Amino acid sequence: MSPCVELDPCNGRKRHEDAVRHTGDLIRDTVHGVGAGPSAAPQPAVLAAVVGGAFPDLRRSSVEAAVAAAGDSLGGFVLAGMGLGETRAERAASLAAAVEAMPAHLPRVLVGPGDVLSVLDAIRAGVDVIDTDWPETLASFGHALTMRLPGDDERAARAAARAGPAGWGEAPLARLPEVDASDQAGGAAQRASEAWDQARTDPLTGRPCFPLAATGSPEAAAEGAPATWRVHGSVSDPRLALDRRPLVPGCECPACAGSWSPAALTDKLPSAAADDAAMGTTGYSRAYIHHLWGSHELLAQALLEAHNAWRYRQLLADVRAALVSGGSALEDLCERLVSLHGLAR
Ligand SMILES: [Zn+2]
Repeated sequence: MSPCVELDPCNGRKRHEDAVRHTGDLIRDTVHGVGAGPSAAPQPAVLAAVVGGAFPDLRRSSVEAAVAAAGDSLGGFVLAGMGLGETRAERAASLAAAVEAMPAHLPRVLVGPGDVLSVLDAIRAGVDVIDTDWPETLASFGHALTMRLPGDDERAARAAARAGPAGWGEAPLARLPEVDASDQAGGAAQRASEAWDQARTDPLTGRPCFPLAATGSPEAAAEGAPATWRVHGSVSDPRLALDRRPLVPGCECPACAGSWSPAALTDKLPSAAADDAAMGTTGYSRAYIHHLWGSHELLAQALLEAHNAWRYRQLLADVRAALVSGGSALEDLCERLVSLHGLAR
């Protein structure tokens, strides 16, 4: 990948014009070597940086400069300087202008923006690869991805079947042992859980606390619920202190399923089936991760990173499946996710 002069959008047009010119020079230096001149043997394929801030015409100029500078060594493009403060509409216009100017057979990489809406927008604009640390950043702030994906119903039913008849039912608190309310921590957990029961909302997803029950349609169960599903939620929420469910019921990540491989998970089930059925989970519970986070244990972030990365992998698997299906499948998937999570509002 070539270096570039990356500026945030608050800089003026003149500085962005200079950045486009200097980035073209840097691509030429990357391909031919600094000071070697155009006659030197070129490097193998180079990913050429494209800059230009929120100016669509400068983005187009940057693509043209990259094509001219890299010549036969051009292996693709890296869209730099995005996710630095521009609006969604500004980014869409810049992306469209840049992608339109790029040869269709070369890959396009977007560096930076990684939230769900930005990823969906970028994919629809024609970006092939997104380089972002957003799922890890969320984990570092104690947030778990709770976005709802098309295959969640099926996965939740499968997980509930594994965990026994109790599954992840409507009232996980009913299966919890008695809490000593005279104890300070126990009393706080008890009060938090009572508040959760009264509110009947899932602290992580923002939906009613029974939306992922093993049976029945989640959409029907959620009737009358808030219109949107939370993309991510904080595990520091005190209402999680007695919540024995996994972060996302049905999630098959190492944190929620309690195993780093499906084979190991299957092996584990016979011996742990009774406990799992009683607890309603085979993996790490929300309560445990909440406790780890509150205790500043590194394992909390590790589990959150594993979960968040898995959810993103699942999201992108759904996107790839939609792309393979063709037609309006990708657009339908994106619209469904955007409206379900209230992303465009
Ligand atoms: Zn998970």
